[in-house]
Amino acid sequence: MPFVFPEACPRCGSVLLKDEDEVAIKCININCEAQIVERLIHFVSKLAFDIDGLGEQNIKFFFDTGLIKSPPDIFLLESKNADIRLEKLEGWGKQSVQNLFDSINKARKISLDKFIYALGIPQVGRSVSKLVACFFRSYENFLKSVENKDIAGLLTMDGIGESILEDIEKFFENDNNKDVVKKLAGNGTDGVVTVLDMELPENNLFQNKTIVFTGTFENLSREDAKELAEKYGAKASSSVSAKTSFVVAGENAGKKLEQAQKLGINIISEQDFLELIKKI
Ligand SMILES: [Zn+2]
Repeated sequence: MPFVFPEACPRCGSVLLKDEDEVAIKCININCEAQIVERLIHFVSKLAFDIDGLGEQNIKFFFDTGLIKSPPDIFLLESKNADIRLEKLEGWGKQSVQNLFDSINKARKISLDKFIYALGIPQVGRSVSKLVACFFRSYENFLKSVENKDIAGLLTMDGIGESILEDIEKFFENDNNKDVVKKLAGNGTDGVVTVLDMELPENNLFQNKTIVFTGTFENLSREDAKELAEKYGAKASSSVSAKTSFVVAGENAGKKLEQAQKLGINIISEQDFLELIKKI
């Protein structure tokens, strides 16, 4: 008898996600109980929020006792302790409770890439979360873009394709997921954690440079190229002058290329431009 796949998660009822290229179907509700312990373990892991005092055992303990059901609960634990009195529970003492709170408090400041990684979005591992964070630069910009479903610009990042874009969109179509993000970091200043802006490396070649794009490009539209340069702190200009830092010339570049040659301005190809972006 052919197996009939469920359409909703048997545990939480969320609509299941089936990737065309994959066999598996997945529940992507961040609050799904069947997955929540594993997600919490990922959330506090070394490359995410890195909360030492919350190992696998402790996560399971807090989940079973109902004290941590969702990531934001971790950061509310201390303020609730007057009622909970953790130090009175078996296996805990005054010092171990204090150590736990200290390690949670240390994790309240987190970089945008680690924050995104911690959410556990399918296909968004360490390297992709870095690309996403580099693209959006600040939590506020990231939140605004996912809320407005305006994230297609991510495709300009080498390493992010349609399928990853879709997983990110699907993740934020789930109200529970959005709720968790908002409870964690609020609108930027009113959450239980602070997400730090991504800083550009100091030797970033594009910082404060004026770039002119001319001609037709093979991989990027002109608009995408400009957007990409701006992400890295450059200014895209439409005319060549002595102030132009360099010109990126594609096929059939005409007058602007000639002008750049006359003025002795550095001229690079689209390929060179993409290589430079990759090195940042
Ligand atoms: Zn579920």
